Amino acid sequence: MKDFITALDPNYQLDKYHIKNNVAVFYISSKMSEVKCPYCGTLSSKVHSSYEREIQDLPMQNRKVILLVKTRKMFCSNCKCEKKTFSECHPFVENNGKKTRRLVQNILFTSAQLSSVNAAKILKSNSIEVGKSSICSLLKKMPSIVDKSSVKKVCVDDFALRKRFSYGTVMVDLESHKIINLIPTRNTNEVKEWLSKYPNIEVISRDGAQLYANAAERSHPGIT
Ligand SMILES: [Zn+2]
Repeated sequence: MKDFITALDPNYQLDKYHIKNNVAVFYISSKMSEVKCPYCGTLSSKVHSSYEREIQDLPMQNRKVILLVKTRKMFCSNCKCEKKTFSECHPFVENNGKKTRRLVQNILFTSAQLSSVNAAKILKSNSIEVGKSSICSLLKKMPSIVDKSSVKKVCVDDFALRKRFSYGTVMVDLESHKIINLIPTRNTNEVKEWLSKYPNIEVISRDGAQLYANAAERSHPGIT
C-alpha cells in the first residue's frame, strides 16, 4: 500500500487506511514542511488550518480507492502578496479535481476506444466510478496539444483495461509524457502502417514486445 502512494507521489505518505466493503480509503499527507504559494511563489511553513480533500484514485485489487488528502491552508509569508492565505496544491491532481491524474489517464485510454456509455460500464467493472458526462468532458480536455508532426521521440507500448488482456497500442511522447495517439490493435502490420504516418519520428522506444521492434524497424528503417 505504501508503494501505491509512493508511485502516486514520493513526497506523500500513507497515514492510515481502512477497507470497507469494496472501497479502500487511504489517508495521505505531504511530507514537505514548506508549501509554495501559488500566487507569488514564496515558500511558507506557517499553517492556518487543514482539511481533507476526497479524491478518487486508480482501483486496487478490484476495490474502488478513495484518497483523503490532508490539505493545509497556509499563511503566505510574503507581505506583498495579494493573498494572505492559500491552499496547498497537490501535484497528482488538478486544483479542483476529484480524480488523480493517473486515474484520468486510465479513463482516457479506455474512452478513446469506446462510446462513453460503454466506457463507463467497463470502467465500473474495474471499480472506477465515472459517469458518461464526466468522460465526455475529460475527452474534450484530452491533449490535442501534442503536435504530431513535430514529435521526435516516442515510446510505443500495449495497454490493457484488465490485466492479462491487451487491447491496443499507445504512443507516448517521451519528452512531454503525453499520449499522442492510440489504436485498438497490436498487429505488427497495422502498427507499422500507423507508425509510417509519422516520418518525423527519430527515436522509437519499445521495451516491450518484439512485435513493436519489428514494426518500428519496418516503418523507420535504421533508427534507434
Ligand atoms: Zn503569496
